[in-house]
Amino acid sequence: GTPPALEALQHADVAALLPVPDAESDKYRRGVVGVVAGSERYPGAAVLAVAGALRAGAGAVRYVGPGAQAVLARFPETLVSAGPPHKAGRVQAWVVGPGLGDGPEARRAVDDVLASDVPVLVDADGLRLLDRDVVRSRTAGTVLTPHAGEAAALLGVAREEVEAARLDHVRRLAGAFGATALLKGSTTLVASPEPGVPVRVNPTGTSWLATAGSGDVLSGITGSLLAAGLAPRDAASVGAYLHGLSARVAAGPVGAPVAAHDVAAALPGAWRDIR
Ligand code: AMP
Ligand code: MG
Repeated sequence: GTPPALEALQHADVAALLPVPDAESDKYRRGVVGVVAGSERYPGAAVLAVAGALRAGAGAVRYVGPGAQAVLARFPETLVSAGPPHKAGRVQAWVVGPGLGDGPEARRAVDDVLASDVPVLVDADGLRLLDRDVVRSRTAGTVLTPHAGEAAALLGVAREEVEAARLDHVRRLAGAFGATALLKGSTTLVASPEPGVPVRVNPTGTSWLATAGSGDVLSGITGSLLAAGLAPRDAASVGAYLHGLSARVAAGPVGAPVAAHDVAAALPGAWRDIR
């Protein structure tokens, strides 16, 4: 028969996909995630993306960009490098875009990571600097994580059109860019570029996530899962699952406002809930 159009991951599916180290693991085998984010104007986006990446399964986080001081002040375990991303040393997946701005340096950084042969997650400002043909011709996976406004800009339609037909537009985005598309919002959808693959709906979302910087944390989480070796569709859907669950853990059983950095700090609690 026809495959279902939609599916939702459950706790047990996510538990089976979480990258848990074994006796043979070392930090490199667990995966190194590279984060290219932040700018003089938005240094906090770098801190939040790194915060998500550090607690989501990779063995190390490498930061490349102008926010190294702010990142190190908060997370001394981060490896930092100056210069272009491809000179930064071994990385198994890149996250590019949160708070990056859209100047010439941001553009060069996006082009640099897209030229790599490892998976790349593009979010936020990075999405404004994308060349569709460059993304289409990549040999490794690409994950795009727009909210409705960013998705509308990528597809050249009005935001209202995306909001009115989210399932249709997340599929179109994946098809047009040959990439995994994660459409954020009150429900998060993940579409694959291959036709016929069900779109995943995230069941853990909570409106406490409607807070500044929470998207940056999601980028870091999902990039970390890519670096740990999850396939793009699994990394994106497990990332959204962990992100929502962490916000619920942080908000508590009754619910209380959470800041984006609280969501990152609650990741270990969400993991323990799932395992
Ligand atoms: P961004 O738009 O990049 O700031 O990311 C916001 C994050 O919060 C995304 O993961 C959204 O899916 C999530 N989010 C925003 N509003 C809601 C909502 N009302 N309910 C559930 N999740 C939300
Ligand atoms: Mg965002």
